Amino acid sequence: MPNNPEPSETILILGGTREAADLAREWVAANPEARIITSLAGRTREPAPLAGELRTGGFGGVEGLARYLRETGVTRLIDATHPFARQISANAMEAAKLAGVPLDIRTRTPWARQPGDDWIEVETLEAARDAIPPNSRVLLALGSQHIGLFAVRDDVHFVVRMIDPPEQPLDLPDHTLVLGRPGDTPAVETMLLIAHSITHIVCRNSGGKAAYAKIEAARELGLLVIMVGRG
Ligand code: NAP
Repeated sequence: MPNNPEPSETILILGGTREAADLAREWVAANPEARIITSLAGRTREPAPLAGELRTGGFGGVEGLARYLRETGVTRLIDATHPFARQISANAMEAAKLAGVPLDIRTRTPWARQPGDDWIEVETLEAARDAIPPNSRVLLALGSQHIGLFAVRDDVHFVVRMIDPPEQPLDLPDHTLVLGRPGDTPAVETMLLIAHSITHIVCRNSGGKAAYAKIEAARELGLLVIMVGRG
């Protein structure tokens, strides 16, 4: 239920990112008369606490989101989802048009290669998989839904970091599972990379600060990053 029965504005933030959580916190503090709702897909079992209201789960495509915008009286829609969450961003564009609600896109810009970065840039996860040299030790910094693609590489040791323990054993022949969120600082990520004798990182070019510490750590250690672009 809304905290305020007559909000000055009703803002729906499509979230699931640290930036979206930061936005919600800033706006709740700055606009006590507005209703601020963050929407999560519900992929993470215990998401970090959020300021304002929270709703969870898919809307049911474009039509469902447009209906939600109308029925909830949303006055502004913010897309602050992960840059690789393409479906919800496409839905947001369509639904905002259908419902006549202004859309503010706050998805991150990709990281740019810095001096000292040693990157192989590829377009797809398949290309990333094929670019891994034999006998490497790879930090696979990807969502669980993408891990299975790497199962054919039985000549590689993978280190997989996940926030939640997987429901089933990972479909990877040779791997170590590390539970936890990405480290906030290059020093924390450096420790992980050294502890597991990592030689390569495979990740997507997500942009933003939250996942950047591993890129800085790789730069400092001179490790190769196989970077999947947004295509
Ligand atoms: P996606 O492929 O773009 O979306 C698939 C479906 O999930 C959407 O059609 C929508 O279902 C539902 N959905 C996605 N985001 C939602 C949200 N914020 N609120 C309500 N429903 C949502 O998305 P995804 O890549 O699976 O990502 C899901 C969520 O995880 C996003 O919120 C994203 O910001 C976050 N996230 C994604 C990644 C990533 O690598 N993709 C990384 C970190 C965080 P309906 O069509 O039924 O509405």
